[in-house]
Amino acid sequence: MKIYLNTIGCRLNQSEIETYARQFRAAGHTLVSDPAEADLTVVNTCTVTTAAAADSRKMIRAAARAGSGEVIATGCWATMEPMAAAGLPGVSSVVLNDEKDELVSKLLQIQPEAFDMDPVAREPIPGARLRTRAFIKVQDGCDNHCTFCITTVARGKGRSRAKEEILADIQAAIAGGAQEVVLTGVHLGSWGQDFAERAHLRDLVTYLLENSDAPRIRLSSLEPWDLDADFFSLWQNQRLARHLHLPLQSGSAATLRRMARKTTPDDFAQLVQAARTAIPEIAITTDVIVAFPGESESEFAESMAFVRQINFAGGHVFTYSARPGTGAARMSGHVDHALRKSRNAQMRAVFEASARQYQNQFIGQELPVLWESATALGPQGWTVSGLTDNYLRVTAQAPRTLWNVITTVKLTQVNNQGLIGVIPVTSVQ
Ligand code: SF4
Repeated sequence: MKIYLNTIGCRLNQSEIETYARQFRAAGHTLVSDPAEADLTVVNTCTVTTAAAADSRKMIRAAARAGSGEVIATGCWATMEPMAAAGLPGVSSVVLNDEKDELVSKLLQIQPEAFDMDPVAREPIPGARLRTRAFIKVQDGCDNHCTFCITTVARGKGRSRAKEEILADIQAAIAGGAQEVVLTGVHLGSWGQDFAERAHLRDLVTYLLENSDAPRIRLSSLEPWDLDADFFSLWQNQRLARHLHLPLQSGSAATLRRMARKTTPDDFAQLVQAARTAIPEIAITTDVIVAFPGESESEFAESMAFVRQINFAGGHVFTYSARPGTGAARMSGHVDHALRKSRNAQMRAVFEASARQYQNQFIGQELPVLWESATALGPQGWTVSGLTDNYLRVTAQAPRTLWNVITTVKLTQVNNQGLIGVIPVTSVQ
C-alpha cells in the first residue's frame, strides 16, 4: 500500500507518526509525500485549541479532496469528537488515543511484537518539512488536572514506556542519521512514576546518555513541579541540550490557583535560579496563557511583572481558549475579546524584549548549530538555518545545504529572524 501520514499539534503527535512510518515500512509498505498518490492516509489530530481542532478537520478534508483512498483519523480531536470525525468525507475509521499505539498492527493484522523494526532506521517522513530532529515518545497521558487542559482528558492516565524501548527508538533514529533526539511526552517529568519500582526522569536521561551515542539529546516541555535542583547536575554531560522549556502558564499566584497548577511564582523563580546556577547560559523558555477566566487587571499586571523578572530566553503566548470538557470552560469571568487581544500583544512584547537580550549575549561566541533547512542563493551558495543546543535560531551563508549537519558558527549580529552567523571555512570543507 501507499501510505500518506500527516499530523498537527505537539511533538508527541509527530513522534507517533514517525513510529507509524517505521511500522508501515517494516511491513513492506511505501510512504508517499502526496495524499493524491495514497491508498491510505492517517491524520494525527489535535484539539489543544479551537483553531487546532479546525485545522485537524481541514487536514482530513484536504486528504480526501486530493483523492486519497481511505482516511484514518486518530489523535486528540478525533478522540474528543469521534462522531464528528467519522462523519468527515473519506474517513473510514476513527482510532481513539487509547488504541493509537496499535493503529498499524490492528490495521495490518500483525501482532505488535511481530514488527521487525530493528533493521528499519528512522527516516524523515516524505512530504511536509524534512525533520532533522527525531522526536522520541517517552510517556503518554497525565494524572494532573490543570483546569484549562484538554490534553489530560483526551490522552488519559499517565503511562511510561520502558527505557529499553525508548533506547531502541533512539538507536533507530541515529542509524537513520539523526543528529538530535528530542524526548517528548504529555507529562514528560512524570516518567517512571507509574512503574512498580518508581523511577524518575533523571534515571532515564542518565541511562540514555550512557547507552546511546546520540550527539545531542533535548528534553521537551517539563512541568516545573517535577524538577529539583539535583536534576540539573545531568547537564555536566555536554550532549544534553542547554534548554529547558518550563510552562509557567501565569505569573499570578491567584490565576495559578484557579488553573490548579502545582506551582507558585516563588517556587518557579527558585527553580529557575537553581537551573541558571547549575547550567551557565541555559535557555529557559515557557508558555503563558493570557485572559484566563477571572484574570483581573491586577492579576495580568502581576503576571507581566513576573515574566519580565524571570527574563526568559523566549516564550509562547496563548490566549485562553475554552475547551469543552475542561474545568475552566465552566468558570465565570471570561475576558472580553478586545482585552484578550491587547493582553496577548503586551505579553508578546515582554518576551520579544527578553529573547533579544538573551540572543545579544552570544554575539562574538562560536557555537555548534544543527542545520535544518536551506534556501538557494544562486552562485553564492545557500542560506542555511538551524538551532544551537540552547535553542538559538541561527542563519548563515554556506557553499552547500548542510542539511542535518552540525558545524560551529561565529555569531555576529541579531535581526528579527534571530542570530546571524559566519561558518568558518574549515567547518564546511
Ligand atoms: S500537567 Fe497540566 S497542562 Fe500538562 S498535560 Fe497535564 S493537565 Fe495538561
